[in-house]
Amino acid sequence: MSVFWNKRTVNLTPYVPGEQPKDRKFIKLNTNENPYPPSPKVIEAIEQALAITSQGKDSRAKGDKLRLYPDPLCTEFREVVAAAYGVKPSQVFPGNGSDEVLGFVFGAFFETPEKESVTTHSILFPDITYSFYPVYADLWNIPYKTIPIGEDFSINLNDYSAGSGGVIISNPNAPTGRDLPASDLLQLARKLEQNNRVLVVDEAYAVFGAQSLVPHINDHPNLLTVHTLSKSASLAGLRVGFAIGSEELIAGLFRVRDSFNSYTMDALALAGGSAAVLDKSYYETINQKVIATRETTVIGLKAMGFTVIPSKANFLFVTYPGISGQALFQSLRDKGILVRHFNKPRIADYLRVSIGTGEDMDTFLSACRETIELPGN
Ligand code: PMP
Repeated sequence: MSVFWNKRTVNLTPYVPGEQPKDRKFIKLNTNENPYPPSPKVIEAIEQALAITSQGKDSRAKGDKLRLYPDPLCTEFREVVAAAYGVKPSQVFPGNGSDEVLGFVFGAFFETPEKESVTTHSILFPDITYSFYPVYADLWNIPYKTIPIGEDFSINLNDYSAGSGGVIISNPNAPTGRDLPASDLLQLARKLEQNNRVLVVDEAYAVFGAQSLVPHINDHPNLLTVHTLSKSASLAGLRVGFAIGSEELIAGLFRVRDSFNSYTMDALALAGGSAAVLDKSYYETINQKVIATRETTVIGLKAMGFTVIPSKANFLFVTYPGISGQALFQSLRDKGILVRHFNKPRIADYLRVSIGTGEDMDTFLSACRETIELPGN
């Protein structure tokens, strides 16, 4: 607390990201990073971007490109994304990771109403979902209502009435991993469209098994899909995200971005991001491996008596009868394995476990076995 903070800053409850340990080597299964390295073509593209000079090949030192501002329109990156997803570049909004894109989304499409119309303007999202959504809502002063998800963590879209200020859904949901069929989400989009409201679908994990709604954006002007290269392209450290939607939604996002910072994607992120989107076959191979490892891990956990929520993401949401989430978390941590524990109602006895390499997951399964076999457990 500081006397120099304004009221808005005092009242913030910021998002707390998963731990990035520096002091000790862990098997890191806590922030849904991809366990495989990025495509070699990404590294090449970044090196090339550093080697290029603004005055021709031999006149200036390496890194000269960094002297210049990057392209604020991210033209080449948006062309590459558009071609890969079968949309127009004007239907692509680029950003510094999808967290930033989501921040702009809340500012662009969700309303801060007069007091009397709070109920009709409250945006809706599940009570158990990505914990950044309420943070953005509070930052932008947008009222929200959370809708309880089922005992089995399933989402019933009939609960998301059309009389709201808009809806945001993560598909597959985080941290549960459960997915929703495209048809149900499209039906909701149609209902919201009748009231000029936006449906945002966060597809951060969709490549691991959920149906993407991108093929439907031309039929739904109020549907925005949000994507990241952090998980699917092993580039959490480069910070690349993007949204795909109708031209009017994308233009709205640019208006907010350009009232904040026109250069959210730097020159190296633009080069590496484009190369990643272009190297489809490399990423299909590693992400198929992640999916296969997920399925083997599910079998291993269930055989030990764990409850595992069906997952279409690169993580699993699991619990073990009779051992608290905190105790499981601590036992795994003591064995050098870092997973994510959310100390929140309804999910405090669950752990979210990112899928690592096959070897990582074998070690994880052995550590689970040792934990549950401990006397007293
Ligand atoms: N959406 C969801 C559902 C996530 O879990 C994450 C990762 N924390 C993000 C978006 C943001 O990813 P990034 O900012 O790395 O693109």
